[in-house]
Amino acid sequence: MSRSVLVTGGNRGIGLAIARELAAAGDAVAVTYRSGEPPEGLFGVKCDVTSWEDVDAAFGKIEAEQGPVEVVVANAGVTKDTLLALMSEDSFSSVVDTNLTGAFRVSKRAVKGMMRMRRGRIVLISSVVGLLGSAGQTNYAASKAGLVGLARSMARELGSRNITANVVAPGFVETDMTAVLDEQRQAAITSMIPLGRMAAPEEIAKVVRFLAGDDAAYITGAVIPVDGGLGMGH
Ligand code: NDP
Repeated sequence: MSRSVLVTGGNRGIGLAIARELAAAGDAVAVTYRSGEPPEGLFGVKCDVTSWEDVDAAFGKIEAEQGPVEVVVANAGVTKDTLLALMSEDSFSSVVDTNLTGAFRVSKRAVKGMMRMRRGRIVLISSVVGLLGSAGQTNYAASKAGLVGLARSMARELGSRNITANVVAPGFVETDMTAVLDEQRQAAITSMIPLGRMAAPEEIAKVVRFLAGDDAAYITGAVIPVDGGLGMGH
């Protein structure tokens, strides 16, 4: 059965791979985008997740187009890396506002309809660094660690309504976000990954598809690493 799905930041990178994967499985998939054109074949809604008004309006459009959202993937995320001693308060709070508070806004708006339907799937895209920490990424790692507390609290609050909330923690994935790292840094990272390579966005998308599907009905509050073994032990 086709479900109404929203993937934030589904216009490119990991989000686009997730959107395409769920659409291929037969779901009606909406994606947010901030500028340019939405990807072909997906329902695009203009939305900046740092604005409650944008998020609320986007859900209104999606509900009118494809019905209440049954699966939401909070994927939109940014980095603003620098060492703590040099980091401005704005660099810290703006990354948290997008990555963590953005996921809060989207989840809060999504559960309105999910509670009424008495079913729903929430998947938050975190990162291996949320649990391992990462020098130069105190803002990003804090925001990604926060998603675990958000998901696990939602799992407890909403389990009785048949709503699951899970976290996917990717390692290094080939997207625009990692393309900015210089070759030396990429090689250093790859050398630490047991599988010896970065992930393709599709490898993250397939795990999200599993968590959003019937086979994952009894999984909630879980953190699923998809990191080639980089974070083992966290
Ligand atoms: P990209 O930089 O390729 O894409 C980021 C996406 O987030 C874009 O679609 C972007 O939209 C969207 N976005 C950013 N800020 C906002 C905002 N305020 N409102 C709405 N959308 C926004 O990143 P990736 O695809 O690599 O990353 C996707 C997610 O996966 C992120 O949460 C990231 O932290 C996480 N992740 C990525 C890893 C990697 O190695 N790449 C590893 C672990 C986690 P727009 O096009 O409008 O800018």
